[in-house]
Amino acid sequence: MSRRPLVAGNWKMFKTRGESLAFADGLRRGLGSSGSVEIAICPPFTAIDVVASALAGSGVGVFGQNAHADENGAHTGEISMAMLVDAGATGVLLGHSERRADDNETDQALARKVPAALAAGLTPVLCVGESEFERDAGTTKAVLDRQVLEGLSAVPVADLSKVVVAYEPIWAIGTGKSATPAIAQEAHGWIREQLRELCGDTAEQIRILYGGSVKPENAAELLSQPDIDGALVGGASLDPDSLLAIAAAAAS
Ligand code: PEP
Repeated sequence: MSRRPLVAGNWKMFKTRGESLAFADGLRRGLGSSGSVEIAICPPFTAIDVVASALAGSGVGVFGQNAHADENGAHTGEISMAMLVDAGATGVLLGHSERRADDNETDQALARKVPAALAAGLTPVLCVGESEFERDAGTTKAVLDRQVLEGLSAVPVADLSKVVVAYEPIWAIGTGKSATPAIAQEAHGWIREQLRELCGDTAEQIRILYGGSVKPENAAELLSQPDIDGALVGGASLDPDSLLAIAAAAAS
């Protein structure tokens, strides 16, 4: 089963609208025409419309970094899935470890957010991954089982192929210390196994991205692993040439 690789750049809380526009112009200039790799940018909310307009027709997706599960309501500081769509987004990151840690994002909340994203027509990217403490304690697989199975618990089997899972070991995020290809593949293989339990052969269609200090220098080796179907990139996605180099590694 061949899965089209996805390389998504998570900008976190970086870039004003002007800086986002400059990035989008640079990305457009460097984009090839092959389209064998899907590219997505996850700007801050304030820049989604700017980036979506600047990249219209390029095939590059624009994803939110979070959204609320409710359609609307008294949730100060939140935005809905429909608002993301209205701003031009085509997907959304859900359950990034920084949100799990800083904003108390729970598996129960994510179990509502993933189907809400699908209902709005967005591609949900469910982020999972263990801490260093959990890895050292030998509980990595149990953590991944819980996060994957609870996060996807309310998604109808027929919709699971539209979901993307991102494996992001917390100890590798923003640390410069990427997982080795073997460690990453082991975790991805395990996640695929859990997805098979959940939905049988449909699991072969679900893309599992690796995230954690991916750079142009280490991307090719990570992305050549059989169950690594792309990358979720933080720091190295802030420069268009660096993101394009990672996308080129995913294509080869
Ligand atoms: C991330 O924020 O999802 C991430 C993987 O960050 P970095 O690439 O900087 O480790």
